[in-house]
This record gives sequence, structure tokens and C-alpha cells, in this order.
Amino acid sequence: MDAMDQTLTPTFDYLPISMLNQLEYCERRFYLMHVLGEMEVNAHVLEGTLRHAQAHQPDREQEGDKTIHRRLYVWADSLQVAGFADVVEEETGAPRLTPVEYKKGRMGRWLNDHIQLCAQAICLEERAGVRIARGYIFYFGSRRREEVCLTEELRQRTAQTVRRAHTLIGARQIPPPTEKMVKCRDCSLQPVCLPQETNLLNGQGNLQEVE
Ligand code: SF4
Repeated sequence: MDAMDQTLTPTFDYLPISMLNQLEYCERRFYLMHVLGEMEVNAHVLEGTLRHAQAHQPDREQEGDKTIHRRLYVWADSLQVAGFADVVEEETGAPRLTPVEYKKGRMGRWLNDHIQLCAQAICLEERAGVRIARGYIFYFGSRRREEVCLTEELRQRTAQTVRRAHTLIGARQIPPPTEKMVKCRDCSLQPVCLPQETNLLNGQGNLQEVE
């Protein structure tokens, strides 16, 4: 049976997989976006959105012995997350599935993209009843596909991130700015978040830290 030919049932009120990426990057960013609905469209965000729109119209095509699924809706009841996988490669014969996530820029120092990919893989495993050993992240900036091994450690970290998301949502209190303020330089929400000003008001840091 085609592993991906399962009836897809829309699942509402599950945590969006993309929000795990935001949370792993910065808890305050996650809260601003997911709980308070803030979104700033800067050049980086716009580039990422356009690249996704160009590359990921929903479809399915055959490439040799592989079926390529694009923009596939997936969800996992175990994690209570749902969202879209950019690309899923399905090998004919052995039901082997490989998720591929597309990102602008180059591989960063943080695990946020890995967590997002791992959550997609866990969703696919639940939907198709297969085990997935690895996935890939394609970075437009370096035009490279980085292999991501879906280790037990990464799976546990992903589950922890989901639990942390529910804790933050339940706490109803915006987290403080990240201590790794180098992240703020690339963050589109800086004008809304005001990390330096917030730290100053809280008696921490100074206005030069992010510059
Ligand atoms: S500006 Fe910094 S602290 Fe604020 S949301 Fe972005 S990364 Fe987090």
C-alpha cells in the first residue's frame, strides 16, 4: 500500500509544528507569535515566505523510483502537533519516507530547524506506521542538504519542546528576552520585543548588547 495514501483528517487545536522552531530559537519569540499573534515581515521573513511559495505548491510527482510529496499536512496524536512537511520523499517498494525541510540562509548554530524536522518525522511515522531514521534540511543560502539523524536524543528534545510550549501557554506570562542576545540580531520581532529596553527596565543589560 502507498504509505502516504491515508485519509488526512484535519486536526485543529494541535500545536503548529512551525511554532516548535520558534520556541527552540527563543521562548519569548514563541510567546509573541503563538500566544500574542505578533508577526513582523522583514526582508528575511519575506524571502523565506516567497521561497516557500515558489518551491512548495501542494503536489505529488514521480522521480524515478521515488514519489515526491510536497506540502503534506501531517500530525501526531502522541505529541499533539500538526503542520506541513515541505517535501516528503517516498521510496517505492520498501515504504521508506524521508522528510526534507527547506530553509533560507545557511545552517545555524541552534537546533530549532532540527526540532521542526524531527516533529514532522514523528508525525509521518504515526501516519504511515513506519520508522524514519533520517531527514534533511536544504538551506538555500549554501545550496546544501544537511543530513539530520533522528536520534533518540533529538526525539526526546522535541517532546520536551512540546511540553515546554504547553507550560508557556498555560503560564500566561511573556518570557524574558533570551540570554543569547546574538539571536536578536536576526529576529524579525525585535521592534516588538524590545529586548534591550526590556532588560534595562528589569535592571539587566545595556543598550549596546544586541548591536
Ligand atoms: S528580539 Fe531576541 S529576545 Fe526578542 S523575541 Fe527575538 S530573539 Fe527573542
